[in-house]
Parts: sequence; structure tokens; C-alpha cells
Amino acid sequence: MNVLMNADTAKIEQLIQLLSKMPGLGPRSARRAVLQIIKKRESYMLPLSKLIQEVAEDIKTCEACGNLDTISPCRVCQDPKRDTATICVVEDVSDLWALERTASYKGLYHVLGGTLSAINGTRPEDLKIGELVERAGDKVVEEIILATNATVDGQTTAHYIMERLKGTDTTITAIAHGVPVGGELDYLDDGTLSAAMKERKPF
Ligand SMILES: [Zn+2]
Repeated sequence: MNVLMNADTAKIEQLIQLLSKMPGLGPRSARRAVLQIIKKRESYMLPLSKLIQEVAEDIKTCEACGNLDTISPCRVCQDPKRDTATICVVEDVSDLWALERTASYKGLYHVLGGTLSAINGTRPEDLKIGELVERAGDKVVEEIILATNATVDGQTTAHYIMERLKGTDTTITAIAHGVPVGGELDYLDDGTLSAAMKERKPF
């Protein structure tokens, strides 16, 4: 079979392999997705490849909050309608996007870039904690909302941050987790996530 494989087939296989590494996609669904993309060459495949190329060239990490956007500061940080007195601390950009999806939060964000973890060897200096402490020192900031995941590492990180923020004038709150321990923000439905934000409590 392999001897019959020409260079183009090998490229299609490469595409399937690359796509199958995406979260939620195994080899089977990657194969199905690639076939669908190829069938819709004009209406889907070409616009998609052009857009991926453009995003790859333009993508930036926001210098203020750590969000991913094509401009820095990002669109959230530059939006004059956002409440600059509130900063919501999240582990990853996916959590920021999940909260934005709910459209229930109007403050700013701070992306840590992970959690403290003894197993993975992630130390405070590996995360954007120093930057957060610096932002919390700004007079305009009144509330820091801790929205790390309800996992052991997420909660350990939240406690560590609270210790580091002692002595600043900010109120520290945490979102309510209406989900079992181990819940990750990105997997919550929008209603639960909105409620968790609304029912935040002093930490
Ligand atoms: Zn930003």
C-alpha cells in the first residue's frame, strides 16, 4: 500500500496527523475533518488556510493581561467600557475566553500562564504572579477576583496569590464553583460560569 502513496497523499496524512493532536480530536475525527475541509476547497479550505497564516503572523500576547490577540494591548484591555478597577485572575487564555463567552464580566483579566505544581515543577517565578502584584499596587485597582480552577493546583495557586497580595489595598474575592472539585472553567456551561462570577465571595 505504502509504495502507491504519492507525495500528495503523504501530505494529506501529515495534515490528519497534525489535526489529530488537537484537543477533542482523535485520528478518526481528524480524518473526517480533513476530508470535509478538502471537499469544501473553495468555500472553506482556502479561507481557512489564509486565515491561519494571517493569525500566525499577527498573533501577540497582550503585554498587560496575557490574553492572545492580534493587537497588544488586547481588545479587552483597550475597551473603554471595561471596568479597570476589577481584575479577574485566570490560569489560561482558554479561561479568559470562556468568561468572555458568558458576557457577564466587564472588568479586566490577568492570565497566570498555569498553576503552581509540585509534580510539574512549576514555581511562582514561572507564572505571571509578580506582574499581578505589580498591577494590584495600582491605585485604580479595587478588586482582584481569583478564578483559578477548582483543582488542587488551582486552589493552591489561589492561596499563594492571596498571601502575596496581602498588604495591597485590594479586596480579594474568589468565584463560586458550582461544580464538583476538579472542575475547569472552560468546561462549565455559560450559565454556571456566569453564576459563579456573580456569586463570588471574599477569599
Ligand atoms: Zn489584555
